[in-house]
Amino acid sequence: KSPYRLVTDEQLSKLRAREDKLFDERTQKSKEIFQQAHKNLLNGVPMPWMGDWGTTHPVFLEKAQGNRCYDIDGNEYVDFCLGDTGAMFGHSPAATAAKVAEQAKNGITTMMPTPDALEIGKELEKRFGLPTWQVAMTATEANRYVIRNARALTQRPKILVMQECYHGSLDESLPHINEEGKLALRTEYDSNPGLPKDQLTRVVEFNDLEAAERELAHRDCAAVLLEPVMTNCGMVLPAEGYLEGLRELCDRYGTYMIIDETHTLSNGYGGYTRAHGLKPDFVTLGKSIAGGIPVAVYGFTREITDKINATYGNAGVSDPMGIGGTLAANQFAIAAMRETLAKVATEEAFEKMFRGQQRLSDGLEAVLKKHNVPWSLTRSGARCELQFMPTLPKNGTEAKEHFDWQLMYYTHVFLSNRGILITPFHNMMLISPVTSDEDIDRLIKGWDDCIAELVVVSK
Ligand code: PMP
Repeated sequence: KSPYRLVTDEQLSKLRAREDKLFDERTQKSKEIFQQAHKNLLNGVPMPWMGDWGTTHPVFLEKAQGNRCYDIDGNEYVDFCLGDTGAMFGHSPAATAAKVAEQAKNGITTMMPTPDALEIGKELEKRFGLPTWQVAMTATEANRYVIRNARALTQRPKILVMQECYHGSLDESLPHINEEGKLALRTEYDSNPGLPKDQLTRVVEFNDLEAAERELAHRDCAAVLLEPVMTNCGMVLPAEGYLEGLRELCDRYGTYMIIDETHTLSNGYGGYTRAHGLKPDFVTLGKSIAGGIPVAVYGFTREITDKINATYGNAGVSDPMGIGGTLAANQFAIAAMRETLAKVATEEAFEKMFRGQQRLSDGLEAVLKKHNVPWSLTRSGARCELQFMPTLPKNGTEAKEHFDWQLMYYTHVFLSNRGILITPFHNMMLISPVTSDEDIDRLIKGWDDCIAELVVVSK
């Protein structure tokens, strides 16, 4: 728990009991469905994270539209979670929804390409500066295929990742450094029986070039896989020169640099890569690029393209590389992505999102100041993160040390009871192009009321 939490366990559990009661009263139908769901669904949900909102039961939704979610009890929520980025441009954007309805009648999956794919390649090159692209189903998968290529091209086994990173359910990116400084599984899941014991990973802290050099000097890393801003352990910004320094180290030690833009696409039209002139060897992204229709992409340099062509081409009949998938790049997802990129994820949309983030962050900082609370706010593109610590974290460990699940879930249920959703797992708030100033002000007021009460109770 964070040393900056303001309230004692006892004070917090009293507040929590009040909010749990309120939550329970207004979500009776969800509660009932959840109980029934245990008969056939593990923990009453179809996917583990759906049971992870920190409440006694999840809310079951009737529909989601724009930046609103509507649950089966008739509650409306202003959504700043946005499907943890999958719905970054709003739920069911009109252009994507119309295209999807049309395409659904004209073929969903055939394992044959459609001309839409050409447009996607052109558009992605324009945005990210990389010439060659491939399509996968999810960001996890895109990362897996990129790692596969990096290993094949370098003939090296290991992948370097950042402490407390998240890149999907990849075996390579789940191990972390434990308290004894040894490579282990994530601290919370130290005994995760689902991971292989042979380590294919090296792990360092973000923003630590010395550690990166020490690990890369073994010359057994095929690639470094990282988000340019860490967004899955709270949020951690790169120190000045860090990403450039890492690029240099990758060149020096013959390791590819993979930039995972799945979340940091929220930093601009061409992600953080374009906004900050990064020079990755591979870029991966998924989640929001087709308005939430499952699809992901990975792009790479001309040099890598030539090497792939010269050595193993694009796999082929017997698929010796294990790259691709039956439904990957299906025409339905491709059509949805083309339309979303052309009409929804536009430069104007990003401008609106950035303006919204400024308003939210300024408002939240004013609230922290007003109540004299030693918490901080990290801003990046269209998202911000409230952290229970006075300074911005420099790396994953520092961010994690100030995690406070009890306090965090209390604040989340407090906001939910007032019609506001933010990302579970941490305090990340994302602005969509359809989020209004009034919606943002409502979130600021939600935090203001929540923090004001915590301060009073603590006195
Ligand atoms: N990369 C990053 C940075 C992510 O945050 C996530 C998911 N949170 C993924 C990859 C994996 O995305 P998916 O679950 O859609 O495969």
